[in-house]
Amino acid sequence: MAKHRINPDDCIACTTCVAHCPVTAATRKFRGPKMLGPALERFRISEEDYEPSLEYCSNCKNCDLSCPSGVPVSTLNMLAKAAYYKKNPQSMRDHMLSHGENMAKMVNAIPFGAALANVGMHNPVSRAAMKQIGISDKAPMPTYAATSFVSWFKSQKQTPSEEKVVFFPGCFINYNQPQVGKDLVAVLQHNGIEVIVPEEFVCCGSPLVTGGYLDEAESNARKNAAEIAKWAAKGYKILTACTSCGLMLNQEYQELFPAIEGLAQNALSLYDAFEFLAERAAEGKLKTDFAPVQEHFMYHVPCHLRVQGIGLPALTLLRQIPGLSIEEADAGCCGISGNYGFRDEKYEISMAVGAELFQRIKDSGVKTVVCDCGTCRLQIGHGSGAATAHPVSILRKAYQL
Ligand code: SF4
Ligand code: SF4
Repeated sequence: MAKHRINPDDCIACTTCVAHCPVTAATRKFRGPKMLGPALERFRISEEDYEPSLEYCSNCKNCDLSCPSGVPVSTLNMLAKAAYYKKNPQSMRDHMLSHGENMAKMVNAIPFGAALANVGMHNPVSRAAMKQIGISDKAPMPTYAATSFVSWFKSQKQTPSEEKVVFFPGCFINYNQPQVGKDLVAVLQHNGIEVIVPEEFVCCGSPLVTGGYLDEAESNARKNAAEIAKWAAKGYKILTACTSCGLMLNQEYQELFPAIEGLAQNALSLYDAFEFLAERAAEGKLKTDFAPVQEHFMYHVPCHLRVQGIGLPALTLLRQIPGLSIEEADAGCCGISGNYGFRDEKYEISMAVGAELFQRIKDSGVKTVVCDCGTCRLQIGHGSGAATAHPVSILRKAYQL
């Protein structure tokens, strides 16, 4: 059984987390954060106990965000899942979804692998086969890019600069949407900053945690933490442009793996890309040679950004672009939570969770929704029909790069 480090008695049973849990609101199959987190933790401390509805927790972290006592409910849930899966094997489906990095590496190793995988994964026959193993045939599965971000980056000649930052791309940007990473590099270079992308980085481990593979996630955390510590010691800032990767490196490592040394120190050097850019803007160190962008956007705040407590730096910065108008959706979770909504038994729940957001987008008539999280963008496009963009792509457009 996992060593218990969080005191469930910090819970004062106020049920605020229940009111803020989007999955509890969407389905009665889930018994809610108060019961599955602190209440059952009291039983789990003394003996093994597994409540099957724990599977329905999406790790969206709205419970943690709302709890007045600071109980990390989602972490209790993930630790309980991990304890269960130490003795009970995961399904083939959960193994595949949790090890997306391995799959992407295989795709990249084969000539025309991305094209073959995309055709193979996105036709009715293969979707029907995937449904047989528990992957929804309706879910918005990502496509692979022909060239990964890291491969592209290695071929680039940057303008050298005294000022450098380290970029952690994460799997989604590296293998699925490298354009986001390219846009970030262009924006940073325009501001006289050189970018370093260490090849030692591995998947942040977020899909491993939600799949119950805690030991593998810890192994990844140790590798990433060592690399981050190395660059932080030299005075470099380490940027992420995916809010789930950022949350994992910055906060979840500390909650899940307190035995790893130096995590709190590392967190001081970790920045969301827009947190970094907005800070420079506030100091008058960000170029403002923006061309007007005569467009109206909607901005969706990923739950994993909200819980970081760094405000909405992308929204703040994009509002400085002349001609551009952008409204915050303020319509809750999109429902996808990483790959939660890809699972057949959770697809309808994820769509129910995101329904308010999808309707808000449709009612507004906006053509493009801006969001910092890759899988949120997939879900928003799927649920609302709108185009989506990472905020750094809009910033690059304003710079006319
Ligand atoms: S992480 Fe999200 S789904 Fe899980 S209990 Fe908390 S609010 Fe509910
Ligand atoms: S919000 Fe916090 S204190 Fe209130 S019931 Fe949930 S875990 Fe307990």
